Amino acid sequence: MIEMAPAPHAGRGNTEMGGRHMLETSVIRSISAWAGGAPITSFYLDVDGRRSPRWPDVELRAGHLLRLARQRAHARDQLGAGSAASGASAEADLAGIERWLGHDLDRSKVRGVALFSCTAEGRFESLLLPEPVRDQVVVDLEPDVAQLCLLSSASWRAIALGVDRERWRMMRLEEDGEEEEIDVVDDRLPHGIDVDIELAGFGHHDEELVREHYHRVARSLEEELRRRPEARVVLCGPQESLRELEAHLPERVRAQVAGRAHLELDAAPAELARCAREVLEAADADRRSAMVAELRGRVATGGGAVAGIDACLAVLGTAQAESLLVERTFEMPGGRCEGCGLLVTATAGACPRCGGHVRPVENVVDAAVGDAYLHDVTLVALPDGELADLGRIGALVAAWARTEVRTEGHTEGHAEGRTEGLEPSDA
Ligand SMILES: [Zn+2]
Repeated sequence: MIEMAPAPHAGRGNTEMGGRHMLETSVIRSISAWAGGAPITSFYLDVDGRRSPRWPDVELRAGHLLRLARQRAHARDQLGAGSAASGASAEADLAGIERWLGHDLDRSKVRGVALFSCTAEGRFESLLLPEPVRDQVVVDLEPDVAQLCLLSSASWRAIALGVDRERWRMMRLEEDGEEEEIDVVDDRLPHGIDVDIELAGFGHHDEELVREHYHRVARSLEEELRRRPEARVVLCGPQESLRELEAHLPERVRAQVAGRAHLELDAAPAELARCAREVLEAADADRRSAMVAELRGRVATGGGAVAGIDACLAVLGTAQAESLLVERTFEMPGGRCEGCGLLVTATAGACPRCGGHVRPVENVVDAAVGDAYLHDVTLVALPDGELADLGRIGALVAAWARTEVRTEGHTEGHAEGRTEGLEPSDA
């Protein structure tokens, strides 16, 4: 869960800030909508206490970022890139951010900070993040929401279910590293067992009880998934128990199982959570590798994928991208058409699509990530070097667009007409 607060000292669980507690698409969308006249300062700071136990070290990095931003703002003024008013607005943004950082921050819960400021429009937004971010400052005519998008698309919402023949334990795992135990059941306690029957045929009755037990676990999991339909499930326990339980799970619940792990149920609850998180991490890594392999394969055969920033911006511009894979620290300047919004690697000139005026964008890679997120394109952030041979960025093209590439040879006009009916799940 990602919390938003007007000031760094606002505590966890504080609901007096408009109720927007999670980093949902709506939050990112509302910040993205700031793009317009005046420059916006986007500021990300890693405040993770595990990496920087001493606050003065964090302050040092923050100071460096602010200096960098002031130098860039100064350079823009020298070039006459903005009006005197916009230069003053950016300067005030940085002063405001410096003041904000002077407050106390509860670093036991907060690992990253994202601040967005546009003094000219009277806007300021602070987000306290449960995950570390990359130190970054951008002063531009649009906010840089890329890191928020990447964080938001990596989901940690999960249910950890520990089960054996007689007991089960269910926990909710949240994005912020929190966990909550929701069910601890010991079916060894008798449930109105008729003593006579038990004496008559204990073995048979025992098996009945075990079946009933798994059935109850399955129902309980189904119920929890009705409350949190998007959660992934991790099953932990002795192998035999996991097999038996899965036989009781309906197909749609089985489809939400992200992984399994062997665990004795006597383990502490924290152990169950740790075990489940490891499984999820491994599942995510597998998924990323599979997508990179798919990208490589499709690029090699020319079948439905593109590599390199120019090609990726082109498929994003025509809404043909289904997934965008990008190295985490890849950045470069580019531009955005003021007419149609197309992103390009040129920082000025005329838009290749509509002839409109292209204005510079400080980091066109981040702009692409933001656009992709807002258009429901799957985002995959990769360690640096992973896509070195592919120009550090690649996109998988949606199935409908792949068909058109094959039959038409070119796609642009058709693609634009088809975006309304795009079904992302078709691939
Ligand atoms: Zn244009």
